[in-house]
Amino acid sequence: MTDSVSLPDLTADEQARIQAKAALFPPPSPVLADGRKDLVGLSREELIAELALLGEKPFRAKQLWHWIYHQGVTQFDEMSSISRPLREKLANTYVVGRPDITTQQTARDDTRKFLFRFRDGQEAETVYIPDRRKDRGAVCISSQVGCTLSCSFCHTGTQKLVRNLGAAEIVSQFMAARDSYGEWPSPTGDTPRLLSTIVMMGMGEPLYNYDEVAKAINIITDGEGIALSRRRITLSTSGVVPMMDRCGSELGVNLAISLHAVRDELRDVLVPLNRKYPIAELMEACRRYPSASNSRRITFEYVMLRGVNDSVADARALVRLIRDMPAKVNLIPFNPWPGSDYQTSTREAVEKFAAIIMDAGFASPIRMPRGREILAACGQLKTESQRVRRASADRAGDNGPQDAV
Ligand code: SAH
Ligand code: SF4
Repeated sequence: MTDSVSLPDLTADEQARIQAKAALFPPPSPVLADGRKDLVGLSREELIAELALLGEKPFRAKQLWHWIYHQGVTQFDEMSSISRPLREKLANTYVVGRPDITTQQTARDDTRKFLFRFRDGQEAETVYIPDRRKDRGAVCISSQVGCTLSCSFCHTGTQKLVRNLGAAEIVSQFMAARDSYGEWPSPTGDTPRLLSTIVMMGMGEPLYNYDEVAKAINIITDGEGIALSRRRITLSTSGVVPMMDRCGSELGVNLAISLHAVRDELRDVLVPLNRKYPIAELMEACRRYPSASNSRRITFEYVMLRGVNDSVADARALVRLIRDMPAKVNLIPFNPWPGSDYQTSTREAVEKFAAIIMDAGFASPIRMPRGREILAACGQLKTESQRVRRASADRAGDNGPQDAV
């Protein structure tokens, strides 16, 4: 029985290693240059402790939480249930932060893409994707600036990991998107409807930034604030197997797996993390995923690459892989980016592939290219913004840093 004892230990070691690595790329301090501290991103307990420093009782934290996360207020002056002298004291000590918007573009189909700039100048992308059939949509949120994983078809994978995003930066992407749609509840208590789900499918690998992502999810799902149900949050991973169990048991969100290939030889190339956690191990972790059920299926994302992974044999092998799981397959036509080696599968190939999966009893929606004229590939907006800034820095004169070297 040694195996059953040593397995969890190995997983714990691996989790500790992943978390230690995450700590090497920390988010910036919540304290601003003027000494004030950002309250966004503090857990409830941290907020209570923070206010205790001002001599305030825990109910103040409850009031503030309501104003910050339920009403979406960013100015202490608007927090009418708090006395004026305390509001002034709060404003001198704290801020309710939002990232700056570097770029905001809205496509003809109302998809809206934001490039947010955080306090240290780093940038990450967030996208609001409306659901065409209904009066609601999903906010696609980033978890890191860049990514360590270098998937060969992904533009973000060409950018080095700069750092992890903090819980404040993760939550505030959603809050800033809400600001942009004026979606905070009115004083009459109307519930906002448009920004109704969150998908952690932006830049970065969320399970390589587990602690901050977990903290952000706990803030977003807190019943007295944004109060989004865990069922309305989907976390997408390229397959960080040791963290998947924790994600399921501690966070209880829906899981999406970036599968993209059904054979290890090919997945090793497309998603290099596969060399560490091959398909069989990944599928085992999916089978163990606690909240997976028929009403909460695991989504398998599959990017359609022409002549690479889009054959009838691939579709059949995919069905065999997921046969015993509550699953659905999201087929994503490859979104090309400058310098990418792949091409999008033909429409016929995508439809044939989808039909095989559907015939086997699995939903297989084809993710339609949304807002294509503005979106380009994930990660591209950030590269573009950096390119423009570098170009203007170069134009700024002969004393630029390059010349000084
Ligand atoms: N790192 C996580 C989450 C972010 S990527 C993960 O890999 O799951 C979100 C999804 O977009 C993934 O399924 C990813 O494989 C897919 N994706 C990345 N680049 C793409 C591209 N150029 N075209 C289509 N899908 C892409
Ligand atoms: Fe990272 Fe996901 Fe892109 Fe792979 S697909 S490089 S894991 S962001």
